[in-house]
Amino acid sequence: MTDAAIRTNNLTRDFGSVRAVDSLTLSVPPGIIFGFLGANGAGKTTTIHLLLSLLEPTRGQAEVLGFDTRAHGGEIRARTGALLEFPGLYERLSAEHNLDFYGRVWHLSAAERQDRIKALLTHLDLYDRRKERVGTWSRGMKQKLAIARVLLHRPRLIFLDEPTAGLDPVAAAALRDDLATLVQREGVTVFLNTHNLPEAERLCQQVGVIRQGKLLTVGSPDMLRQQTGRPRADILGDGFTPEVLALLRARPDVTSATMRNDHLLLELPADARVAPIVSALVQAGAEIEEVRRGTASLEEVFLTLMEEGER
Ligand code: ATP
Repeated sequence: MTDAAIRTNNLTRDFGSVRAVDSLTLSVPPGIIFGFLGANGAGKTTTIHLLLSLLEPTRGQAEVLGFDTRAHGGEIRARTGALLEFPGLYERLSAEHNLDFYGRVWHLSAAERQDRIKALLTHLDLYDRRKERVGTWSRGMKQKLAIARVLLHRPRLIFLDEPTAGLDPVAAAALRDDLATLVQREGVTVFLNTHNLPEAERLCQQVGVIRQGKLLTVGSPDMLRQQTGRPRADILGDGFTPEVLALLRARPDVTSATMRNDHLLLELPADARVAPIVSALVQAGAEIEEVRRGTASLEEVFLTLMEEGER
């Protein structure tokens, strides 16, 4: 039997003529935060529903914590937690009563419930506010509480579907920090759906990129950057006319030259130097304000993968 937390083999799900998940073969090791990255409609939520056995696959198999999703949905759901579209909180109850309610659902003893609620709310800096009605809380606080709810029964694996969606950047960053700390403390495996690339970079040891139901690539954010992101230069300035771009593209030390939001982005061969390129730009009449060298961010890798998929 497998010791991967999640293993799928050619997992496929159709909705009528739409193939939402297309021959997904994936293995997620235990103990990591796995980021499942994709644009809207890529098939991320459908994948979680398949893994939780809330949907039947059209074809293929999936095992979660060693249980086949077709035969053992109950076992899987008992050992996992999920934060899907709705936080699953009762707005008229206090934070403490919300968690206590879920503790009863999971058949935790009174002592266990008390311990768990105290530990989780303390880590989330919400213990002092445990008696407040959740309906009065901000979205960010509610979302933190929803994560406490998901972790309450000590699942070995949790599924989070866009947990920071709809939060302002400050609340989203706070939630990410708490999530990173809690996950480490609890030793839980996380399957995190997101289209937020900084989030994946900040949190995930591995990411998989999905487009139109198909897995395009899997690896650590670093590995993906190295694989897809060649050395590059990001040049800020003026006068990057189509003629100047054509001139650059004709050079052997420039692999590609594109404009993105006023930035001239160059992809370079492994050993290229930037100085001769900058001189050539100046000679051609461009004005240079800033030049930054580096490898691509995960965002650029993602955009490149999406663009390659379009072709
Ligand atoms: P988002 O980030 O927008 O939530 P997603 O990556 O989670 O997107 P899914 O919700 O899995 O994507 O949808 C994948 C495809 O399957 C989409 O084309 C969607 O319209 C379709 N789909 C999903 N659920 C259903 C359903 N119940 N009935 C019909 N089509 C569906």
